Amino acid sequence: MNIVLFGPPAAGKGTQAKILVKQRGLIQLATGDMLRAARKSGSDLGKKVAGIMDRGDLVSDEIVIALIEEQLDANEDAPGFIFDGFPRTVEQAKALDASLKQRGQAVNGVVRLCVDDKVLLGRIEKRFIDEGRDDDNPESFKIRLGNYHKQTAPLLPFYAAQGKLSEVDGLADIQTVAASIARVLDMQKNVKMSWWKRVFGG
Ligand code: AMP
Repeated sequence: MNIVLFGPPAAGKGTQAKILVKQRGLIQLATGDMLRAARKSGSDLGKKVAGIMDRGDLVSDEIVIALIEEQLDANEDAPGFIFDGFPRTVEQAKALDASLKQRGQAVNGVVRLCVDDKVLLGRIEKRFIDEGRDDDNPESFKIRLGNYHKQTAPLLPFYAAQGKLSEVDGLADIQTVAASIARVLDMQKNVKMSWWKRVFGG
């Protein structure tokens, strides 16, 4: 099962992805984490993206698509993936569809964590103090949120048109959000199984 966890920065995607990894044995693919690791390693890629990330802008589609493809190749036998912070543009979503199709797979569901912008600003102030991420400063965060609305939110109609989009309240506490996500995913699994039984019997 391949799931896209969707939402603005600081919506709680990373936290929920880690819970899904534990519960379902899926592999978390978080492009933000991959890019931060590249920076930490001092690689050419890390140097190339540092300024862009600190500003709060998106790195190029080409770079993040290559990172994801590398991980899909490296985890051929995985039971499925949780895409966290990817795709962030329609171009990335189309590339993901094509990459998965080549591997006989697809995005099975997209779960949107619905969170109010004002709440996000409060959360990010706390995360900036707790974790010290450079791009969590108020100026960069405003740019990141703006980019989310401009470049990433158009993915909502893209996935809704495919009947893949579900929404959960991201404002609840962590365990309640996790339970809502689990309900949505189990419902999708049951619909798929009953379709399979209707077509093939059993
Ligand atoms: P995140 O940890 O997901 O908030 O990502 C941190 C930063 O990494 C973002 O603000 C972007 O600069 C960059 N980034 C992460 N994922 C993507 C993506 N899918 N497309 C473009 N840039 C990304």
